[in-house]
This record gives sequence, C-alpha cells and structure tokens, in this order.
Amino acid sequence: MNQELFKKLPKVDKLLAHKELETLSKEMTYYTFVETIKSGIEFFRNKIQNEEILDFLEKDVLEKIKELGQTSKLYSLRKLINGTGTIIHTNLGRSLMSPKMVENMSEISLNYNNLEYDLKKGSRGSRYSHLEELICKITGAERALVVNNNAAAVIICLNEFAKESETIVSRGELVEIGGSFRIPDIMSLSGTKLVEVGTTNRTHPIDYEKAINENTKMLLKVHSSNYKMSGFISSVSVEEVAKLGKEKNIITMEDIGSGILVDLSKYGVTKEPTVQESIKVGIDIVTFSGDKLLGGPQAGIIVGKKELIERLLKNQYLRAFRMNKNSIALLEVVFSYYLDEREAIREIPTLRMILEPKENVHKRAVNLKKLLNDNSVETTLIETRAKIGGGSMPEETVPSYGLSFIGNANYLEKKFRDNEPAIIGRIYNDSFVIDMKTIQEYDFLEISKIIKKIIEKK
Ligand SMILES: *Cc1c(COP(=O)(O)O)cnc(C)c1O
Repeated sequence: MNQELFKKLPKVDKLLAHKELETLSKEMTYYTFVETIKSGIEFFRNKIQNEEILDFLEKDVLEKIKELGQTSKLYSLRKLINGTGTIIHTNLGRSLMSPKMVENMSEISLNYNNLEYDLKKGSRGSRYSHLEELICKITGAERALVVNNNAAAVIICLNEFAKESETIVSRGELVEIGGSFRIPDIMSLSGTKLVEVGTTNRTHPIDYEKAINENTKMLLKVHSSNYKMSGFISSVSVEEVAKLGKEKNIITMEDIGSGILVDLSKYGVTKEPTVQESIKVGIDIVTFSGDKLLGGPQAGIIVGKKELIERLLKNQYLRAFRMNKNSIALLEVVFSYYLDEREAIREIPTLRMILEPKENVHKRAVNLKKLLNDNSVETTLIETRAKIGGGSMPEETVPSYGLSFIGNANYLEKKFRDNEPAIIGRIYNDSFVIDMKTIQEYDFLEISKIIKKIIEKK
C-alpha cells in the first residue's frame, strides 16, 4: 500500500474553505457540506486501500465532491418533471401554484402579518376573516370557512351537525376516494351514524323519505369523484335533496369533491356541477378541495348558511384543522382571480392547462422534438389523451400530444425516473412516452440535457 498517497489526501478544513467548492457550499446546509467533503475524501481513501489507483490530484477529489454534492444537496421533497399528462396528479403534488401566488406567500412568510390581528381595532382578529368575503362573493354563499383539506371539512361538518344522530347517504355514493378517505369510515370517525338508502345503482327520493325519522340530522350527498356508473342508474339530484331537506327541516350537505367554480362545459369540457349551482338550489353546506380543480394549495373549503358556519366556528375540531398562513396567502390570490372568469383561466395553472388548445400542445411537442433531434435523440410525435385527474371527471380526457422514445419502455421509464430531477412519463403501446400537456416550455433546456445524457449512456 502506498503510504505517500494517504498523506496526499486533502484535509477537511482545507476543503471547507476551498474556492472551488464555494458554490456547492451555498447550495446546502453546513452539516451536509462537511459530510459531502468527508465522503469525497473517503472515496479516495478506499481507492488507495484497495490499490485501485496509483496516483491522484487534488482536482480529482474536488470533482468527486462536486459530483456527490449533486445528490447530497437534495431535500427529500423535491422538484420533478411531470410527463404523465395527468394535470391534477395526487402523487405528484396536485395543482401547481403560479409565480404571483408564491410571491404573495413569500411576502407573508418572510414578514410578520395580520394573520390574527384586526388592524382597524388594534386587537385580536380572526384568521378566518381573510378569505371569507371573497369566497362568498364568488360562490353566492352566506358564509365560508376554510380548513386544512376537504377530508377535514367533511369531518368537522358531520361532527357538528350530526354527531350521535343519523346521516342519510345513498348507497351509490358510499365511495372511497383513495388514500384512506372512505365515506363510511369518515362518518363513523366524526361520530354520526350512517344510514344507507337505495341500492348501488339506483336511489330515489322516496328512499330518503322513508329513512327519515326523529334521529335524522342530515342528508349527505357525495360526489362520486374517481368512479363513474353507467347503464341502469338513477340518483337523487342536489335539487331534490335540497327540497327534501327544506320540507323535513333537515340539514343538507354536499361533499362536491373537486369543487369547480367555472362552468368548463362552455369551453368544450364535460359538464361538471359547480359549487355555485349547489348553493343556488339550496344545499345548506357544500365542501370542496383547494388543490384539485380550484387550482390552489391543499385546503378544504366549506360554504353555506350563516347559522351553520357560525356553529362550525365553535367546534373543537376547528383548532386541529385550522388553516396555516401560507395557504391563506396562496388562496387569497387564487380566489381573487375567480372574480373575473377570464383571469382565472389565464392565471391559474390548473385551469390554464385543462383549457389550453391542443394546437399549443402540438407546437410544444414539435419544438421539443426538434430540440432533441438537434441533440441526436430520435422521437416520434404521437397523439395522446391527457387526464384531468384529481378525482374529478375520471373518464374525462383532453386531446394532447406526446413524444415516444425508441427502446425498451421499462428500461427507459426507470432511467428517466432515476435521473435528478426525475422525469415521470408513462408507458403507452409498449413505448415510453412523455406527454406534453403537463410539460412547460421553461423546462425544455433541462429536459433536453437530461434526455441527451440518458440516451448517450445507454
Ligand atoms: C378528493 C376528495 C376528498 C378529499 O379531499 P382532500 O382535500 O384531499 O382532503 C373528499 N371527498 C371527495 C368527494 C373528493 O373527491
């Protein structure tokens, strides 16, 4: 073994202050920086020990540290490139925020703010006050309340309005959304007794009527979200449920799931009932998610009758489910866009992607194909169908385009996924495909570099 070589190994202290590593040091915490340097030195120590090298230069060690730094600087939660074509992908973080939304959030995060401070009175205020007027104006509801997510919204409502009493739900709506949200379980958790009516495929108003008794506190309608029934089916409309509730003096509630505020059918997407429509027909309480079709951060929005929202404000669950300031800051920007429908469609990334004309997607596909071609990577431009996702409109797809790669699909899928940042694509007709619906122009350079590297290494 060459003892002289061991002596040549640079000292940690020296490398910590090395000019060549200055950029890297700024990209990570001090602890990680030290650990990365130690790993780099260790790498060469092993090589010497195993007599795998006869000599090395300090420059080689620095290069190794920089290389190791590329992965050690990463946080667990990190960026990736969505080439799946699913716009609201629950596994990939659901809705994207826009720069303006994030700017507002940074302003709030970086500074003290009036989260619970009434600037007019100079005394304690409510965190729930910031969004309420805006949401009421947009949805037409009397009052609104925002909690952590829609699951929390459903739980707090059932707990407040129907605890230790009965809640009637159609058998066709006892759904599982995924990720452990199952209506029967959520109901028992909130302390209400589930009374199932109708059959899996058909429920009629008379089924609800027959089940109503003095213990009935609520009629609940649930959006079937990620599944769809067809054939011999019949369900009770929100209008009918609202009417029945009024007649019998029972609270009506709808978990509308995704919660769309703009009727997209006029833009050629299948009709999805809006929150405003449910409020208009007289449903007492409507709940929906913040990060699905609404296009905002994770949140649960509750809108409805004044006296009911006032009761929720006193429920003990609210303290546990309360909204954080960063999400309030994001949501305030999102909701303010909805005051003008055209602005909402232009500024909210989720809506923009859903409604983007297929000609634009085609143009992006052509441009990326050309960029890749310039880097000697061959692809085939194909027509695809992109999904909206987010448990809304399970069958609904929009026309899109993708780039299909030559080579073993499973091998490529893993290679693209193993890269940093990962590119998540999908396998379509035995080929690995990147769908252009969810890929943005600003990612092109990075994508082409990644792809070039992967295909070259093959
Ligand atoms: C998605 C969904 C939920 C859960 O909403 P989160 O905001 O993810 O908690 C509840 N109900 C329905 C019908 C849904 O589609």
